[in-house]
Amino acid sequence: MIEFKKGEEVNLLGGASAKIENKLGQGGQGIVYSIRIDGKPYALKWYTCKFKDKDAFRKNMERNITEGPPDNKFLWPLFMTNEQNGSFGYVMNLRPKEYSEFSDILNKTVEFPSTEMVINSALNIVNGFRSLHRKGLSYQDLNDGNFFINVKNGDILICDNDNVTPDGKKNSGNIGGKPGYMAPEIVCGTSHPNSLTDCHSLAVILFKLFCRHDPLMGEQYVKSVCITEQCEFELYGKNPIFIFDPNNAMNRPVKGVHPNPIKLWPLYPDFLQSAFVKSFAEGMKNPNARLPENEWQKILVRLRDELLECPSCGDDLFLNHFPAGETIKCGCGHSYSYPLRLALEKYNVPLFPGVKFYACHTRGGNDDYTTVTGEVIMNKNNPSLWGIKNLSGDSWFMTPENGEGKNIENGSIVPIVANLELQFKETAGKIIKVKGGQSGYF
Ligand SMILES: [Zn+2]
Repeated sequence: MIEFKKGEEVNLLGGASAKIENKLGQGGQGIVYSIRIDGKPYALKWYTCKFKDKDAFRKNMERNITEGPPDNKFLWPLFMTNEQNGSFGYVMNLRPKEYSEFSDILNKTVEFPSTEMVINSALNIVNGFRSLHRKGLSYQDLNDGNFFINVKNGDILICDNDNVTPDGKKNSGNIGGKPGYMAPEIVCGTSHPNSLTDCHSLAVILFKLFCRHDPLMGEQYVKSVCITEQCEFELYGKNPIFIFDPNNAMNRPVKGVHPNPIKLWPLYPDFLQSAFVKSFAEGMKNPNARLPENEWQKILVRLRDELLECPSCGDDLFLNHFPAGETIKCGCGHSYSYPLRLALEKYNVPLFPGVKFYACHTRGGNDDYTTVTGEVIMNKNNPSLWGIKNLSGDSWFMTPENGEGKNIENGSIVPIVANLELQFKETAGKIIKVKGGQSGYF
């Protein structure tokens, strides 16, 4: 394939033309260039690979362009080009420079400023694929090269959407996936990519994000002195064993070789660990046991709720490390009383300074995890007094255990005391005390 040179023109379907600027990168399927159309900057992916059925691939992409992206997290194909030099390409928006490649985050070239941003990006990745699957589409090639993440706020962009195909249909780009991300049934050749194999790849992405390691790379991998194709088939296809499978200790991470999962896994609450166990132990053999995106979303919102920040030094503290009812001691020397919780329909949120409420907590039936509706604050003059500040724009109504109820307008504060009932616009909650010995969750 001859590469385009700067200044060369590529004709788009419909008559416009694009001017080549620079080569941005190269992958298995093609080359990505920065281009300009009517002076405006875009990216062009130009295919250098051979297609089994080029017409079907083009037709699928034309349909995706007509239907548009599932939401604004996708760098979706915008225009296709005419055939030129025996191939073709498509135009998409350029990645803004504040978005980093996921692989750069995994190799620590780029780091998140806080655990909250790791969770926010996980939520956004999950929600992006939720939107895609809700439209009846499957991604088919989910791996660490498909995301860009803004580590400052957890925003994400999903790229390489050219293999997106209606669920159940094989993509005509003949893509099976990237080793390490493919579901075992694809590795074994018993299934084509679909939305359930996407769910496996998604769980791998999340595991890598939280534990910085491959979920199947443990003792068995280390024992295979030389990783051959046959050996990969065995470890990732025929006999995959999750490194933290509670019922199979054959493939545990190895001390001195796999420090990340050994250090990170124990930090997370049991409900996150269980989600990975379900995805990788049960879900390896039974694709229907893999967690769907809406389940992941609930788990990640809950994880964000349980992540407390020391009001004094700003260190992250996962509440699960403190026995229920006991004092929370931070490494900086400050201590805090064990938080009461706000029991809501779907969540049970610890009331600790800095914890935020989102629309998914305080608006019934809503799963919006980005709109802040309240925040737990600490009284500056008396740090032992904590309250929930109403930031929802709605009026709430509180009823203390003994005493008159009253309206809590936007900007006002609800005192955090046990047994106080709170009526939000569409749902209700009650402040409860977690007794010692209880997990704190229903
Ligand atoms: Zn501290």
